[in-house]
Amino acid sequence: MAERDERDLLLYLRDLRWLDVDRGAGAGEFLADNLPEASDGSKAPLDALAVQASSCRRCRLAANRRKVVFGVGNPHARLMFVGEGPGAEEDAQGVPFVGRAGQLLTAMIRAMRLRREDVYIANIVKCRPPGNRDPESDEAAACLPYLRHQIELVDPAVIVLLGRVAARFLLGTTAPMHSYRGVWTSWEGRDVLPTFHPAYLLRNPAAKAQAWTDLQQLRAFWGPE
Ligand code: SF4
Repeated sequence: MAERDERDLLLYLRDLRWLDVDRGAGAGEFLADNLPEASDGSKAPLDALAVQASSCRRCRLAANRRKVVFGVGNPHARLMFVGEGPGAEEDAQGVPFVGRAGQLLTAMIRAMRLRREDVYIANIVKCRPPGNRDPESDEAAACLPYLRHQIELVDPAVIVLLGRVAARFLLGTTAPMHSYRGVWTSWEGRDVLPTFHPAYLLRNPAAKAQAWTDLQQLRAFWGPE
């Protein structure tokens, strides 16, 4: 293993042990400047879409939400993560992936030598399903236009689908996750890589090794420095 890969693996493993993932600049600084620029555009349409979503009542999830969790990150990101929906912490803060799973996602992003603010993070549904259940099909269908607009506006080169629910509603697959995880596919002309949801990795630590291979694929996609 190359020295740099070894160092990144150590950072990844260190972060997975729940040390403070935000302490120090660490690996996050390395690759950000090498990301290709996205198409020129304004953040304003994304903000306008967020405002529109903030009062949305298109599905029953509006009834119990505290905050609409629209999305966060670089409006011109070349890498976009899509999860399934907000949990309790996200519902309280209005920001995706800020709980324990979010800490792990941040560690995964850093393992790719990126910073969280370099990427864009969103979910299939913007409001928390009660009890953290999976979104129902009609809820996902009601909310997907927001995600489609987000993807159009951010215009990422790569979308990483976090977990089976994101894959189900974006790719339309109900196959077992092990059959497509880590396998590049496409969605409407964009490269897509499905991988485990960080919450799954918290429950199944043995899968972290496979997640690491997926992160390495993403790093290889961007190219060596
Ligand atoms: S989950 Fe989506 S469609 Fe449903 S109320 Fe929230 S923002 Fe609207």
